[in-house]
Amino acid sequence: MAWTPYSGGLRFPLSSNLTEESVLVVPMTDLAAEYRSLKTEIDEAVGRVLASGDYVLGDELEAFEEAFARYVGARYAMGVGSGTASLHLALAALNLGPEDEVITVPNTDNPTASAVTHTGAKVVLADTTADTFTMDPEKLEEKITPRTKVIIPVHLFGHPADMDPICEIADRHGILVLEDSALAVGGEYKGRRTGTFGPLGCFSTAPGKILGGYGDGGMVVTNDPDLADRIRVLRNYGHAPGLRLSGKDLTGGSGWKVLEEGFNQRLDTIQAAILNAKLPTLEYRIAGRRRAAALYRTLFADTPVTAVHEAPWARHVYFAYNAMVPEGVRDQAREYLASRGVATRLYYNPPLHLHPAFRWMGLGPGSFPVAEKTASRMIGLPCFPQITESQVEEAAATLLEFLGAG
Ligand SMILES: *Cc1c(COP(=O)(O)O)cnc(C)c1O
Repeated sequence: MAWTPYSGGLRFPLSSNLTEESVLVVPMTDLAAEYRSLKTEIDEAVGRVLASGDYVLGDELEAFEEAFARYVGARYAMGVGSGTASLHLALAALNLGPEDEVITVPNTDNPTASAVTHTGAKVVLADTTADTFTMDPEKLEEKITPRTKVIIPVHLFGHPADMDPICEIADRHGILVLEDSALAVGGEYKGRRTGTFGPLGCFSTAPGKILGGYGDGGMVVTNDPDLADRIRVLRNYGHAPGLRLSGKDLTGGSGWKVLEEGFNQRLDTIQAAILNAKLPTLEYRIAGRRRAAALYRTLFADTPVTAVHEAPWARHVYFAYNAMVPEGVRDQAREYLASRGVATRLYYNPPLHLHPAFRWMGLGPGSFPVAEKTASRMIGLPCFPQITESQVEEAAATLLEFLGAG
């Protein structure tokens, strides 16, 4: 893996309207650097698809699906249009409907909840833990009603939720578990990859995610051949498998038969080829993220900054590095870091129930004390595969300087 040497001392005049992205000393991420390091493989993959004439579904998609299933440790993987679509199609395949309730967490990307709403089912939220920011099994059980059909733990920022107690509670009540592993490709719970604990698991391959393409994409994984087929039907208009659009197919396969009213939510074949070209080196990029996180942990030891927690049973893949600062200083800290060229970002702040779209829940501030408090103290620091040691040191030192602890 190529690691860009830190250019050092590169400072740009800052104005108050500078955006996060234009701050260059320590950027939040560098997706173009990732492309440069894999340019040969990626260009070759894109060229291969363009030359093939096979632009929808096809062999390139199947090759990536097989490789992804192997990586995650599931029997089947199905490429779909986005992480949002992966959740929506998975819930549809589990026959969710207006009579059902689904429990998830308030600190997540809003598609986790919207995918539920779009099936007609009702979203119910349960609070998170203060250290892993994931579903708190102790807050889960009280939210279960006779209507609860699915629990969606979110492996937030790449840290797995505590799956054993969550699955135990789900089993005891006859409820299904559907993991939102959008941010956690490669994450592990007790040595087992996330996304494999329930009947179906969901992932995103959007550009900024752990394994990102250059456009939208997502994956659904399962060990169940019937559910795998159902996802393949649902993503492809509801057509029975077999109808091929390829120019190479002389008969058009088995013909047009509509099994159900599905969606057009296939993973784009060019994106599948790109993702397949990136997958063999994914572990190196995860190692880069983990190396940055380990350095932050050392630098934040015995300071007012709470380093990101990695539970003993977890392999965190650090989609983001959300340190926590003392209450009330977060926004000034971000301004200080920006003024010194260090990018930061806020993720899922405030939590879902405090947004206009979820006003129907009727849940005001104080409804989820842990999720709300952690969100208000979190500061997303630069943590990406190509980040250098000096950049991590610069970001940490600048934050500690602001807190008077440098
Ligand atoms: C990104 C994300 C999604 C949605 O994925 P898209 O590919 O952007 O549609 C869902 N859940 C979580 C937790 C995410 O971070």
